[in-house]
Formats: sequence, C-alpha cells, structure tokens
Amino acid sequence: MAMRNVVLEGDPILRKVCRPVDEITPRILTLLDDMAETMYYENRGIGIAAPQVGVLRRVFVVDVGDEHGKLEFINPEITYTEGSQIYCEGCLSVPGKNADVERPAKIRVKALNRNGEEFELEAEGLLAVCICHENDHLNGILFTDKAVDGKIIVEE
Ligand SMILES: [Zn+2]
Repeated sequence: MAMRNVVLEGDPILRKVCRPVDEITPRILTLLDDMAETMYYENRGIGIAAPQVGVLRRVFVVDVGDEHGKLEFINPEITYTEGSQIYCEGCLSVPGKNADVERPAKIRVKALNRNGEEFELEAEGLLAVCICHENDHLNGILFTDKAVDGKIIVEE
C-alpha cells in the first residue's frame, strides 16, 4: 500500500465525470488499498473518492467509524433516497472549509465489492451523508456546490 497525493479544489480533475470500472484488475485493488491508506492518514478522513487521488474511475471508500467499518464501492449507484438531513461537511480536497449540506436522510446504494460481487446497502445518518458526498465526486460535484444558502465557513 502507498499513500497518494490528494488532489485539491481548483484542479480540473475534480470536475470530471468518472468512468465505470469494467474489470477489477490488480491495479484497481491497489487503488482501493491506497485510497484507504490515504483516507486514514488524512486528518478526520471518513471517505475518499478515486478522482481525489487523480484517478477518474467510479470508485470510493468510506469508513465513518460505525459497525460497518471500511466499505469499498465500485460502480456505485444510489437506487433510493428518502427524507432529508443537514450535516456540516468537509472534504480532504477542500481543506479548511466546511458547509452545511442537505442530503437524503436515508439511502439505498448498490455497487460491486472488490471481488466483483454486487451488494446493496441501506444507510442513514452520517453514513448516508458520506456515501452521497463521495458519489458526487464521481460526477465532478463538490460539497461546496451544495452549501445551504451558498454559505461556506472558512477556517482562519
Ligand atoms: Zn470530498
């Protein structure tokens, strides 16, 4: 495993739409491992998407510290949403900034795991927030785009 550099806001890579993974190669597995290592190393990282390490593939990893532990998503698709919640978000690619963002309260997501098996997961609370945030990265969307009332808090 190896750390990867985190791409920061302003880099056009973060605005691209990522391509699906058509085959889970050793390279994709290394990517997943490296993304997790990078996420855990970075302060307060609870999720990371492939474009944040410069790879335009539909892959993300989350670990919000709940009973699920680390979750890996390949070609994820949010298939159901319900309700709404507002959470003050941050992002490894947007250091020093936070904003309230409105997301679904509950979601269902399906994806492939690292063995290429499809799984489906229901999530609520912070895990739902995190999955929606990471999924947005795959479509070139940053949380700051969705700040409630456009209000972004900048740390001094
Ligand atoms: Zn992010």
